[in-house]
Amino acid sequence: MKIVQYPHPALRAVCKPLTTLDESVRTAAAEMLDLMYEAEGLGLAAPQVALDYRLIVINFDGDPERKDLEVVAINPVVVESKGAEKDREGCLSFPGLYQDIRRFKTVKVQYYSLDGKLHEMTCSDLAARIWQHEIDHLNGTLFIDKMGPLARIGSKKALEGFVEEFEQGLKKGIIPPGTVPKL
Ligand SMILES: [Zn+2]
Repeated sequence: MKIVQYPHPALRAVCKPLTTLDESVRTAAAEMLDLMYEAEGLGLAAPQVALDYRLIVINFDGDPERKDLEVVAINPVVVESKGAEKDREGCLSFPGLYQDIRRFKTVKVQYYSLDGKLHEMTCSDLAARIWQHEIDHLNGTLFIDKMGPLARIGSKKALEGFVEEFEQGLKKGIIPPGTVPKL
């Protein structure tokens, strides 16, 4: 498993809801947490590792020692949202790119944990931002889609660089994970 970078097509997939929680989902969640910590991220969504189902992992502090702040969320949805807040945001699939993004200040989310229990959480500020960013990923929505005109201009060069890098990799025969069906 590997974190894929923009413009990998997996990042644009609309992910399917999970209907069974088997060993493969538990293994994927554990591997995603490892990758997230390794990359010093606060959240990671399944399409970022080229999986096409609705699973995200979060640690609100990014600290692997703080298991109490770790969440594995299956089929998460925002059920209520209010307020607005603009703040700096990055994404593990866009290394080095940070821009101001407008998000709801507070969200109430519902999700299932790996044991199949339904949970509800209300949070604000950074925690709410993480939920919104990761749930967007499950719908193929990326933070570049949420940028205002200034952030968009400021990101142009970086995005062109990502596209170039991806295309060069393809030319060299480096096939990114998840782009070729495993038969
Ligand atoms: Zn992201």
